[in-house]
Amino acid sequence: MAASPKGDFFDSSRAAVQDRELQRKLESASTRHLDHFAIVKAEFPLYEAEKDAAHRIKTDAIAHLDELLIQLTDKLHANGCKVFFAENAEQARKYIVDLAKAKGATRVVKGKSMTTEEIELNPAFKAAGIDPVETDLGEYIVQLRGEGPSHIITPAIHLSKEDIGHLFTEQFGIEYTSEPEKLTAEARQRLRAIFLTADFGITGVNFAIAETGTLIVVENEGNGRLSSSMPDTFVAIMGIEKVIPRLADLSHFLEILARTATGQKLTTYTSFISGPRREGELDGPREMHVVILDNGRSAMLADPVLREALNCIRCGACLNVCPIYRRIGGHAYKSVYPGPIGSIVSPNLFGSAAGYLPFASTLCGACKDICPVKINIPRILLHLRWKETEGERPLKWPAALEGARAGARRFAGIARHPRTIRMLGRLAAQMLKPFAHNGYLRRMPSPFSNWTKYRNFPRPHPHKRRPASSEVREP
Ligand code: SF4
Repeated sequence: MAASPKGDFFDSSRAAVQDRELQRKLESASTRHLDHFAIVKAEFPLYEAEKDAAHRIKTDAIAHLDELLIQLTDKLHANGCKVFFAENAEQARKYIVDLAKAKGATRVVKGKSMTTEEIELNPAFKAAGIDPVETDLGEYIVQLRGEGPSHIITPAIHLSKEDIGHLFTEQFGIEYTSEPEKLTAEARQRLRAIFLTADFGITGVNFAIAETGTLIVVENEGNGRLSSSMPDTFVAIMGIEKVIPRLADLSHFLEILARTATGQKLTTYTSFISGPRREGELDGPREMHVVILDNGRSAMLADPVLREALNCIRCGACLNVCPIYRRIGGHAYKSVYPGPIGSIVSPNLFGSAAGYLPFASTLCGACKDICPVKINIPRILLHLRWKETEGERPLKWPAALEGARAGARRFAGIARHPRTIRMLGRLAAQMLKPFAHNGYLRRMPSPFSNWTKYRNFPRPHPHKRRPASSEVREP
């Protein structure tokens, strides 16, 4: 397992929740994504049918992962690729860094890849005296700031164009501007010079087609295509779950991925990579390696509830709708995978240090509703909570939270007795009546004051009908 996450989730989320400026930036970017998504979804009547197809194909692929990986490996070999199966992050890092050293590489160009973030490849390159350069604009920006991505699709979502303007002035000594076109042109010009001299490239993989041994990389800037085709040596890294059976399956995923990820009908570049340069071809890498990473994914596969999370196509939409993510941003999670899907995969990839993340959810279900491959995220979060609480090694909670947890346990005991609950509800409604205004309580005594510090509490109503069990929505 990789060493991530670092630091304390409670401290970082407490600090982030006070950061109004961060929340403004997150709200603005997430809302923009969701508005675009609503438009492209409305224009595409087959959207729900494509979601169903993608869900079916992915679920089937995960159920036959072993066979598909064998088929993919055979095809990759036949296409002239070298394939390395990495059981964990350390093996993957070592393979890639040793290869770069053997090739005499001093600089590596990288297309966007959350998997390389997961295995902490950049620090390993630096320790070996090799300079890794992120070429996706968002990744390039966060690398200049010495930080990691804060979103799996839009790595610099926590920054405004003004922040980026100041960063470029500070780093490059250029005149300050916050015009996105000028900032993009500046980065492009600098990266173009690096591409022309790089002899080692790395990208992630969105889909790997078992039938043909073709790797699919989708992106918007062309940097993935340049990273995979210009250097003499190219490494593609993918998790074992990225494999799908047939080329014909791909269109279903392409129809939904760009729509939910960025609100586009299709990404600008969709590269089909089918091996190194062949005789007579003028471009492409002379050598191509594919690193297929497990790093805890097999353990997810073995869990009948958790395995559904392997369907994820990393569109990032569940982050955009999550009320927790929108409040604290990605860095507060202290994991390379933040948000709802990050709260599921992180404990399995990084161990107990990320064990608190499944509790960082309101279980509102917005993530389930938007997920293009129909992953029941709240259900998996509840499953992980149960495992973290009742499992062999229950989580140790900070002392400050023990009081709240003890209170919740007491409430759970009382909630088993509906009559008592109804009686207490009526009592509370009477007692709180003088403090209510327009059906809400604006201030409650401690320990409930933490709630009313940020929002009003609906006044308990003495005659409110309890929902019938059939009306209770399944998470
Ligand atoms: S869980 Fe679903 S919504 Fe979230 S990143 Fe994965 S595919 Fe997208």
